[in-house]
Amino acid sequence: MTETDLHGSAAPPIERAAVIGAGTMGSGIATLFADAGISVRLIDAAPEALERARAAIDRIYAARVAKGRMTAEARQARTSAITFETDLAAAASAEAVIEAVFEALALKREIFGRLGRLCSATALLATNTSTLDVDAIAAAAPHPERSLGMHFFSPAHAMKLLEVVRGAKTSSQSVARAAALGKRLGKVPVVVGNCDGFVGNRMLLGYRREAEFLVLDGATPAQVDGALERFGMAMGPFAVSDLAGIDIGWRSKQERIARGAAPKFALTNLSDKLVAAGRLGQKTGKGWYRYEAGSRERFPDPEVEAIVAAERAEKALTTRAVSDDEIVQRCIFALVNEGARILAEGIAASAADIDTIWVNGYGFPAARGGPMRYATDTGIATVVATVERFAQADPDFWKPDDALRAL
Ligand code: NAD
Repeated sequence: MTETDLHGSAAPPIERAAVIGAGTMGSGIATLFADAGISVRLIDAAPEALERARAAIDRIYAARVAKGRMTAEARQARTSAITFETDLAAAASAEAVIEAVFEALALKREIFGRLGRLCSATALLATNTSTLDVDAIAAAAPHPERSLGMHFFSPAHAMKLLEVVRGAKTSSQSVARAAALGKRLGKVPVVVGNCDGFVGNRMLLGYRREAEFLVLDGATPAQVDGALERFGMAMGPFAVSDLAGIDIGWRSKQERIARGAAPKFALTNLSDKLVAAGRLGQKTGKGWYRYEAGSRERFPDPEVEAIVAAERAEKALTTRAVSDDEIVQRCIFALVNEGARILAEGIAASAADIDTIWVNGYGFPAARGGPMRYATDTGIATVVATVERFAQADPDFWKPDDALRAL
């Protein structure tokens, strides 16, 4: 198979791949290549990480065989398509390399520099970074036109969405190759521009922020999750946070602050307090909710109510009744407002692309089309009027700008 770029010139087909970093993401991404019939070298500097990856991959395939979704022969073939290596030089013959090492710019730049020298002059070099500047990573390789972001979501073997992040110097041919590769890997690729959080996580920030402020205003986490789940979200934001680990979002908030990229609007300190109390989510049996051993059922926890009460007292807030309608409007219109800015900046090519991202990566109800479609169906004038009303109480966050009116 030959992949063709937007101008019709051919690039070598991808039959050999390498994944650098055999952690949570790298091991899942390696199975995608094996599933697509592409042989893949999974490379990690730490032999124990490779052993953990081998076990994680075995579990993924064993579960498919147990469910009757894969034969034992197919499992054997997939497993033998993946080789485990400790030396980066094993990536030399790969036509596509996906880097999934720790989220540290200097480390990723070092790897891209070495890959640029090791791999052929036509190899596609992709980083799976979620928060770093793709251009800063790409610039470390001698051929930034072949470098870009391929942002997979966790768990990589199951989540459909792939953000293909176009850097300032990425060629159209490389973007087209990465999108074609994404499709071969069974993903829904959406091309996005390079900015903090790209499209999905950038929009998520305001959505989650509103969920937490609704709790400070007087809602409970269960009420917020319930209202959004009745709206159609696959899971409410607090349930998602408990599943993913509260420390993950908390760490990325700390990193943002450390690199001077804190948002211009206020955030709550609730996640800091939960993490300090050892409430990291399901993995510690308690987070926004309490869990019983071996169960994912959510129970409200008075300790969380006390943490929320302490935060309200520090901010001198009084509580009031919050309606389900307000919960849906504040969380979903926060998505729409940021989505409008993303469109105005050209970070997403269309409202439909934003909707594809939210339906495939964030559990937005497919029946509602996506946040931008929902805004159109609600009526942009209604959305603008509501956002203007919210802005009276919270102008730093809501600022209805021309981007929203331009919709
Ligand atoms: P992880 O900590 O599970 O794995 C990182 C691996 O990189 C480790 O096994 C480590 O040994 C290896 N590594 C470190 N230095 C190396 C080197 N010099 N050479 C080879 N291997 C090296 O991390 P993760 O959660 O899989 O995340 C990896 C990347 O994917 C990060 O950039 C992260 O931002 C991104 N990402 C993570 C998620 C997620 O939910 N975990 C989702 C999307 C993107």
